[in-house]
Amino acid sequence: MEETCYNLFIFGRERLKEVGISNGARESKKILAFVTNHEYSTLNWMQEFIISKELKFKFIDLIEQRVSGAPISKIIGKRLFFNSEFFVNENVLDPRPETEVVVSVALEKNFSTVLDLGTGTGCIVISLLKERPDVVGVSVDISKECLNVAKINAETNGVLDRVKFIHSDWFSNVNTKFDLIVSNPPYIRLSELNDLSREVKNFDPKVALFGGRDGLNCYEAIFNDVSRFLNPGGRFITEIGYTQSSIVKKFFLNNGFIDIKVTKDLDLNNRVVSGHLPL
Ligand code: GLN
Repeated sequence: MEETCYNLFIFGRERLKEVGISNGARESKKILAFVTNHEYSTLNWMQEFIISKELKFKFIDLIEQRVSGAPISKIIGKRLFFNSEFFVNENVLDPRPETEVVVSVALEKNFSTVLDLGTGTGCIVISLLKERPDVVGVSVDISKECLNVAKINAETNGVLDRVKFIHSDWFSNVNTKFDLIVSNPPYIRLSELNDLSREVKNFDPKVALFGGRDGLNCYEAIFNDVSRFLNPGGRFITEIGYTQSSIVKKFFLNNGFIDIKVTKDLDLNNRVVSGHLPL
């Protein structure tokens, strides 16, 4: 049977509520907007629209994917980050609001070149390039699949001509210096696997989450080289797990960085460490 847009919305809302998903109304509407290829906001006046049988089944299938724990962003294939839309799929870490702090700290100062280590969706470097039209960037990732996603995002966000993509294990294939290096490396301890929500545990790629037994492997690898890839006075800005600020600050200190600063996220957790080399 065909259904109206409104009936399907209510079906989705109730099904999500039933399994304890708190913002079921919003998510049902987002999935409906995706399935019908309409803007989220236009659904309000489309309530009596008839939805074809095919789209109805597609909608129900996606609602069931959400019921089994798939995050809404991975279902509709997009996520907002720093006011821009990013395409996401199973190969990339879903951009997080706390990572926006990396972008805002970076924008406190001027820079002409930027390197994003472990770019994932490309959300950090692309947001920076959109804010700074004269800047050029390089995105690196160990995963070719991530680089493909980041390229799509650079194109849809209009910065493809200013960003170069390099398949690289941190700095292994990088051969120029930068004014700014940014990163949101994997920093979760392996033992924390079972504390993660199923949305994260089952739908974010493990390679993007875990930083070894103590969560610090990637910082160690990055700090081995980061100062050699910065221009004099260059800055490094990295996201951290909220318990890691003292140890990561030490890595900055031991590698010649000055003016080391820890910035909190909106939940007041220590989230970003930054510093620069002397001029
Ligand atoms: N740079 C991307 C982000 O911040 C990916 C980070 C990662 O995969 N650890 O979302």
